[in-house]
Amino acid sequence: MRPSKLTPLFASAINLEGVGPKVITLLKKALRMSADAGEPRVLDLLKHCPTGIVDRSFRPQIRDATAGVIATLQIRVVKHNAPPRRSRAPYRVICEDETGSITLVFFRANGRYLESQLPVGQIRVISGRVERYGDKLQMPHPDYIVSLDEMDRMPLIEPVYPMTAGLSTKVLFSAIKQSVRRLPELEEWQDGAWLKQQDWGGFGDALRKIHNPESAADLSLNGPLRRRLAYDELLANQLALALVRESTKGQAGRSITGNGLISAKILKALPFTLTASQERSIEEIKVDMAGDGRMLRLLQGDVGSGKTVVALMAIAVACEAGSQAALMAPTEVLARQHHNTISPLAEAAGLTTALLTGRDKGKPRKEILARLERGEIDILIGTHAVFQDDVTYKDLAFIVIDEQHRFGVHQRLALQDKGGPRGVETLVMTATPIPRTLLMTHYGDLEVSKLLEKPAGRKPIITRAVSLDRLEDILQGLRRAINDGGQIYWVCPLVEESEVLRITPAEERFSHLRQYLGDKVALVHGQMKGTEKDAIMNAFANGETSVLVATTVIEVGVDVPNASIMVIEHAERFGLSQLHQLRGRVGRGDRQSSCILLYDKPLGETAKSRLDIMRQTEDGFLIAEEDLRLRGGGEILGARQSGEANFNLAEIPDFKELLEAAHDDAQMILLKDPSLKSTRGRALRNLLYLFDRDAAIHLFRAG
Ligand code: ADP
Ligand code: MG
Repeated sequence: MRPSKLTPLFASAINLEGVGPKVITLLKKALRMSADAGEPRVLDLLKHCPTGIVDRSFRPQIRDATAGVIATLQIRVVKHNAPPRRSRAPYRVICEDETGSITLVFFRANGRYLESQLPVGQIRVISGRVERYGDKLQMPHPDYIVSLDEMDRMPLIEPVYPMTAGLSTKVLFSAIKQSVRRLPELEEWQDGAWLKQQDWGGFGDALRKIHNPESAADLSLNGPLRRRLAYDELLANQLALALVRESTKGQAGRSITGNGLISAKILKALPFTLTASQERSIEEIKVDMAGDGRMLRLLQGDVGSGKTVVALMAIAVACEAGSQAALMAPTEVLARQHHNTISPLAEAAGLTTALLTGRDKGKPRKEILARLERGEIDILIGTHAVFQDDVTYKDLAFIVIDEQHRFGVHQRLALQDKGGPRGVETLVMTATPIPRTLLMTHYGDLEVSKLLEKPAGRKPIITRAVSLDRLEDILQGLRRAINDGGQIYWVCPLVEESEVLRITPAEERFSHLRQYLGDKVALVHGQMKGTEKDAIMNAFANGETSVLVATTVIEVGVDVPNASIMVIEHAERFGLSQLHQLRGRVGRGDRQSSCILLYDKPLGETAKSRLDIMRQTEDGFLIAEEDLRLRGGGEILGARQSGEANFNLAEIPDFKELLEAAHDDAQMILLKDPSLKSTRGRALRNLLYLFDRDAAIHLFRAG
């Protein structure tokens, strides 16, 4: 149960004064919350940090006020000049001090209100941006108008928050002020020595100061306040991951060993011998499977490095032990492809496979589910359809999750649950070599196997960057390649939803290439029906078509060894990892392969670096590191698409160093106090709640 002390922070912001349904919607926007998220809570407002300040401490006399700066002036109201009725002219209020005069300007003003705010003859303190109009000074819409007694209502230093149209700063300020007041005193959860070393104060203090900054330095992303909060968030993340990891490790897992019979048959059916990396990875996986704990291992290998076979060899072990295995892929195309690769090999070894995707409905689906439950299917391959509620396995012992970064944690856990009380062993595979930093934010710790070398016989891919105005040359080259029996991928970028186009770039290119290269050109895109897509992909795989124009549906996993040319149109719009993934679709067969990065001028700085890196290297690990460098750490942490690593406060420039520290800290904490029962442990539970990582706490009860 969440400590009651924290309750006020978890209440919806709608409970705050001045916040109604309309403001809630605006707050949600200002906080950059997704539309399907719930109402922002008090806690979320607290985490909405200002990005700068308005400094009102410049308090000149009128004579010394300079145009363009924020000034706070003490003035006497001389006269109101209301515009004539129905006139668009602004309402003016003339004010003065001993040194000169200034005109306050209000558009669409409420005269009565202004008279009450600025009574003639009275002294007022006003603050806002000063402008010059001809030889006169004026201040349009002062931010503050207060009497001398009310001076404390006007902060001389004021935070500037990320806003949204329609939300008034006054309302936001008030909501945040109320939120700060709700902050309870909380026991410190950070290690005292560490705090001292970093020169950090408490969590509540940091929040209070950030919302009442005394200078811009208080808000600096490298300053102690933001760093303290960033560290809190990172520690919550690392601690939660470590807890999940500990609990899966600790849970009685299976000990799976095979007799080698099925594996041997598969090996015999393979048209090649395994690389050393593949053999080593298979060994590592077997050791994990044989162990008592629950396996969670990541198989990292560049595109084309041969991960599928490794997975299959591990699956074979599970089948030798009499259990079932499932393989989950992120797209239907990919699931089908895996099925095509795996089923002949599996069948050669006497195993039964089935394919299950979202497309299977009604009777055929029921049939598969029934056979699965009876244990007549050894290997189920599919999309997320494989873990839906009504899918029951007889005895699922091993799961393979391909291209894991496309799946969220809850999907992974849902599949885990299919294994019954003894759980399942999990192998996740990724073709995007994930830098260590990113891995840590997603998993904390997990074992990693790497496929370092590519299967023998692979020739390097020739990569060229070519400007779109040389399209004609390229097309001639392609025509020669086609006459030579070659096959070509031509990838076009997806269009943004906001661009309303009658015809997409891919469709346009498709009809253009058809005119030029004839009817062996095909088009596949994401909006097509699954069956239609498959038919087109199959025709290309069988060599019936020569050119496949595509949006990025072919990004992951597709394997057509005869395809040797990859053209990426508007390569400047693609990210580095994506370019690398796409290029990995070629270079799989005997032909000399090439990748043509067609770019549109002018080329930006980063885009140019990306294309340069692509030309210089094929090393996926290097490319991933470069990708991280070019995109910056913040964006990685902000990678919310998977819903896994959801960070607000940790997005600071040098989060990496803090992340490493948080990682080690989390390990130490769990070593000393595995169920968070000590004084610090109890405080750390609060931390987990405050960063919405409390799901990890419930593991104590389960475990
Ligand atoms: P990825 O790691 O991208 O998933 P795949 O498993 O799809 O790679 O393998 C890419 C291609 O390489 C496939 O055609 C596969 O049959 C082939 N392959 C895998 N291992 C080897 C090997 N040891 N020797 C030769 N070819 C291999
Ligand atoms: Mg693959």
